[in-house]
Amino acid sequence: MLKSFFGGVHPPGFKTSTKNKNIRPAALPKKIILPLSQHTGSSAEPVVSPGDYVEAGAVIAKATGFISSNIHSSVSGKVLAIEPAAHPVLGKCRAIIIEPELQQKRLDSIKDCADSGFDPGKLNPADILDAVSSAGIVGMGGAAFPAHVKLSPPKNKKIDTLIINAAECEPYLTCDHRLLLERPIDIINGIKILANVLGVKKCIVGIEDNKCDSAEVIRNASILKSDIKVVPLHTKYPQGSEKQLIDAMLDKEVPSGGLPFDAGVVVHNVATALAIYEAVALNKPLYERVVTVSGDCIKDPANLLVKIGTPASELAAECGGFIKKPKKIIFGGPMMGVAQPSEDAPVIKGTSGILFLSKDIAGEYNEGVCIRCGACVRACPMYLEPTTIYYAAKKARFDIVNDLCALDCIECGACSFDCPARLELSGIIKYAKAMIKK
Ligand code: SF4
Ligand code: SF4
Repeated sequence: MLKSFFGGVHPPGFKTSTKNKNIRPAALPKKIILPLSQHTGSSAEPVVSPGDYVEAGAVIAKATGFISSNIHSSVSGKVLAIEPAAHPVLGKCRAIIIEPELQQKRLDSIKDCADSGFDPGKLNPADILDAVSSAGIVGMGGAAFPAHVKLSPPKNKKIDTLIINAAECEPYLTCDHRLLLERPIDIINGIKILANVLGVKKCIVGIEDNKCDSAEVIRNASILKSDIKVVPLHTKYPQGSEKQLIDAMLDKEVPSGGLPFDAGVVVHNVATALAIYEAVALNKPLYERVVTVSGDCIKDPANLLVKIGTPASELAAECGGFIKKPKKIIFGGPMMGVAQPSEDAPVIKGTSGILFLSKDIAGEYNEGVCIRCGACVRACPMYLEPTTIYYAAKKARFDIVNDLCALDCIECGACSFDCPARLELSGIIKYAKAMIKK
């Protein structure tokens, strides 16, 4: 039986242009831009200076606290500058700019394959945490929360379940789907490492039923590791949201204002599980990732293995350039991604996709008037009343907005997607949340 959650919407998938294409490495970019903030928490502090030579995998900026993350060079080459540069989420951010050299070198300590006899279940949890933290691993599904923090639950929270998020519910994105098909054993080993450090026996991989091929591959790969179960999920947006996954897969509710820890669960994305395997077994820091480059403007959409810091413009060229003029460039998926003013922003650790959409897809609409149809209420997976919150926020009644539990909004955009009056519901609710916090 397919598992699901309350509410949600069914946007068109737009995945066919990349879902059957193998991951291929992108060409070396002319310039790498590595923002000092690529994660939730405080920015990293540079430990290199302009003119320095660095190898791929070398630490170039160090975490500045527990909720922060190291940043590593994704190429070998010369540090050109440390200056403000385009950032896909923050607009601008201080970044280390590196010019790659032609003959690339990476740190000798990085291995191509795990040592013989590598057994994720026999590792020391403290060593795993050290490796994950040193390698600068963050949540790669978009939130970019430092992984070592998620793997260190408060002592008073009993964690009994690890959920691996392979839902990939955003339209266009297929990078996780390809990883499941192409790297199943490494992902399973990553899951075993996570289970070890959390001390849990119950590990579940949630995959939407539009990716049955990857569910089958992971199921076969996990036969030898009997603690891992694959659970098919109803294809519905936002199935990949942590709270909706926990609801669908375990029938548990994360309390208002709470975290998955409060339901005894830790959720990690499938790409993060792979990065954790690479950090622990191969000594490899997080300096490259798979990115879906797609949209109706792109000549040859692809899933690319990309050096973190590669500008979007270089990836568009890598995919054959444009067949139509892009009206909108989005980092992430079309539902929760961030629209960009230009192609200058680089791939960061949490970038799962870059979309180039024409005016045929990314049309502009004028807001109408609410017709009281209730579609937004039915769509909201957090049981909110988007239309009521919207009108209260429009009147700057943030006290009412707060009473309506707007802070529980996960900013999924399902309400806006289903609204026949084209009201900017999620945008206004996002703004209202910021005003309440202020
Ligand atoms: S109110 Fe928030 S959580 Fe509910 S559908 Fe809209 S954006 Fe999603
Ligand atoms: S979906 Fe739009 S029109 Fe319908 S009740 Fe909600 S805000 Fe009003």
